[in-house]
Amino acid sequence: MANIQQMFLSELSDALSTDRKLSTCDREVQNYVDIQKDRLRKKGLLLDYEFTPRGHNPEGKEMAREAKDEHYVAKMWTSTTKYTRLLQKNGKRINKKKMNANVWSVVINYLNGQNMGDEIYNCPNCGNPEKIKALTEGCPYCGTSFKMDELYPKVTAYNIVEDYSKEKKEMLKFYLIVSAITAGVLIVAVPVAALVIAIIAAVIMAMMKTDPTRIMQMLMLPLGALGQGIFTAPIMGFIIGGLILFGNLLIGAAKSAPLLATFASHQKFEDELKKYGQDYMQEFFMSQTVAKMKSAIYSEDARELPFYEGEALPEEMKDIVDVFFRGAMDFKSVEVRNDIAYVSADVYTEVLRESNGKTRESERIFHVNMRKNLSKKNDLAFSISKFMCPTCGVSFNAYKHKNCPACGNAYKMEDADWVIDSIK
Ligand SMILES: [Zn+2]
Ligand SMILES: [Zn+2]
Repeated sequence: MANIQQMFLSELSDALSTDRKLSTCDREVQNYVDIQKDRLRKKGLLLDYEFTPRGHNPEGKEMAREAKDEHYVAKMWTSTTKYTRLLQKNGKRINKKKMNANVWSVVINYLNGQNMGDEIYNCPNCGNPEKIKALTEGCPYCGTSFKMDELYPKVTAYNIVEDYSKEKKEMLKFYLIVSAITAGVLIVAVPVAALVIAIIAAVIMAMMKTDPTRIMQMLMLPLGALGQGIFTAPIMGFIIGGLILFGNLLIGAAKSAPLLATFASHQKFEDELKKYGQDYMQEFFMSQTVAKMKSAIYSEDARELPFYEGEALPEEMKDIVDVFFRGAMDFKSVEVRNDIAYVSADVYTEVLRESNGKTRESERIFHVNMRKNLSKKNDLAFSISKFMCPTCGVSFNAYKHKNCPACGNAYKMEDADWVIDSIK
């Protein structure tokens, strides 16, 4: 049977281009996908992802990395894949991107043996937040009942990051192609060109009444070129292939060097979180931040989002239809005042813009400011769509309500999750 990572990728490949719902991920991921889909729809665009297994980890596997809280455990999954992104407008392809990628996903599960009855979950059928006890007996809104294994595990965050490494097989294929081209040039193109020149020269020499033995010698020259070609082609193929690979390696290294340097900046952030007893899983945090940032960018008005408390985003961001995270986030500053952590970070991305049927891809660094109350208990399964009111205890979908629908109190999102203050 397919594992959760495979099922997730298969669902994600259709998520933006069809109305197929994602059953392997939580409401949060579904919400983020829906926000992007809205932007695409408004612009009359169709965005399609395709994942083809490749590399050393085509099936996907669980990594030995996890974070835990009282009830839940979050685990990292990765897989290697070929990633294709296709953008269409009015049935016409206007942009295509193809690359080797690493997919990380964070899969959340309940800790076995825990009594989960009072935990909140979004009904997989109607989306209403409800206690798990109630859902297993029958959702009070839609009547459907669920088993625990239908509720968990779920993908709660993911990212697709470019993979610069080449597999042995891909290497071999690459060398074969380069060798074939080299051989084609040396054994066919060069001797043929030489033959053409020799014939022209022979004709001229014949008109000038040159000694026929010299004309014959002239016509034998292309044969020499052929012999040389056959002799040098295999070595030349190797040398040229090596030079191309080395060039690519240098370009790849130059592109990723500034990114690799950013990982050291995570330490200070992690240290602050540890002081408050909170686990830090780098990929999890980055994926969640990127997901929120992207949703704010894709949204009609970011100020309507529960996790965004900044100003309206600039008009130029309205053209952005896809943001490709480059796998690195650089913490510029981490400050904790009165238990509130203020974080300023640079997020490295590549953005795809579309306006009037024209597309443009460019690298882009977004500067993001965020905050969160670290003194509040860390909740791994926290979700904006099943927010629990700290005043009256009622659960509601904070995507749909700015205030608690039961008691009317405004909630402080920063007590439960990271809030974005600005994106530049
Ligand atoms: Zn329901
Ligand atoms: Zn309330």
